[in-house]
Amino acid sequence: MSNDWNSRTKLVHGGIRRSQYNEVSEALFLTQGFVYDNAEQAEARFLEAGPDEFIYARYGNPTVAMFEDRIAGLEGAEDAFACASGMAAVQGALMALLKAGDHVVAARALFGSCLFILENILPKFGVEVTLVDGTDLEAWRAAVREDTRLCFFESMSNPTLEIVDIAGVAEIAHAVGALVVSDNVFSTPIYSDAIAQGADIVTYSATKHIDGQGRVLGGVILGPKEIIRGPIEAFMKHTGGALSPFNAWVLLKGLETMDLRVRAQTATAQHLAEKLEGNPALSRVIYPGLASHAQHDLAMRQLGAGGTVLSFDIRGGREAAFAFLNLLEIAVISNNLGDAKTIATPPAFTTHQRLPDDQKQILGITPGLIRLSCGLEDPQDLLRDLEAALEHATGGQG
Ligand SMILES: *Cc1c(COP(=O)(O)O)cnc(C)c1O
Repeated sequence: MSNDWNSRTKLVHGGIRRSQYNEVSEALFLTQGFVYDNAEQAEARFLEAGPDEFIYARYGNPTVAMFEDRIAGLEGAEDAFACASGMAAVQGALMALLKAGDHVVAARALFGSCLFILENILPKFGVEVTLVDGTDLEAWRAAVREDTRLCFFESMSNPTLEIVDIAGVAEIAHAVGALVVSDNVFSTPIYSDAIAQGADIVTYSATKHIDGQGRVLGGVILGPKEIIRGPIEAFMKHTGGALSPFNAWVLLKGLETMDLRVRAQTATAQHLAEKLEGNPALSRVIYPGLASHAQHDLAMRQLGAGGTVLSFDIRGGREAAFAFLNLLEIAVISNNLGDAKTIATPPAFTTHQRLPDDQKQILGITPGLIRLSCGLEDPQDLLRDLEAALEHATGGQG
């Protein structure tokens, strides 16, 4: 792949490996294993496999390798390891890089499963975890120690869309020799520049914007070759979190259109946020692209856009929020994001249901909060759908 290609070119042509048939579309190598010409070749490959030599699909596969190279090129990472899901990626990055006795500092506002790994799994293996307010650089500075090995955060948090200052945290982490791992799902691979900003490792759930059409699970860990082909590959290939070749093929086709989709979804999110701000049925609209967002300047500096998701708080709590959801005609009630279909989620009752009430309060996950992942529908149709549902759900207040 040519390094001077711009993103859209990389997303269409990056990483391609053509078979002897010279097919146009990426080939789907739906195979677990590979045949060796002779016993000597088998022995040599187990000793050291070259970049285009495969052994077993848990270690690597040509379709999966195309996906890894394409997303690494986009992210500006030296290498990538594809995983079965976003959680396989987060788990792989953390387990591969940590050992008993290490200390981790992490932002408190996290996807539920990420929080589970930090609070329930890592401590079982002797890793100590300190949770901080990810938006407060002083809190990161106060929490890191000589034995801090890793800092972890979602660069844009779910569902309240707080922005973590990647460069700021990286400076604090690197000063004590800790690695920075950024879960970048909400920032999206299109707007992310996390590695240039100081992140050592970036993870994505490819289930979100990379597929973008609600079909498959996938994930990826990106970073320096030394780490990806060192501890990450060793952990992933022996523990079974490999991406299926079929899913890699779907995700490769997703990457081809991702730039167009994410930019259109972001334009819709910006439009809806602007139109909904001030709606009397809402007590707040949270969107990093609005000047009213507490970290608007940081979001513009770090990402240059507000992303594809907005959140808003409906007056009247659970009852009004449920009435609103049940009145929607275009947006569907679900919990994925980054999809072509607009998805409305009530986090307090779904993705964050199990979080204790005091934690919900700290994180701003109120009963009336709705997370809206903007899809590819006509923005005017969506606005009408949202406004009509708000008006009827809140008895005409809207
Ligand atoms: C969805 C998501 C994950 C997990 O990804 P899966 O593909 O569902 O395993 C991790 N982090 C964030 C921020 C997510 O949104």
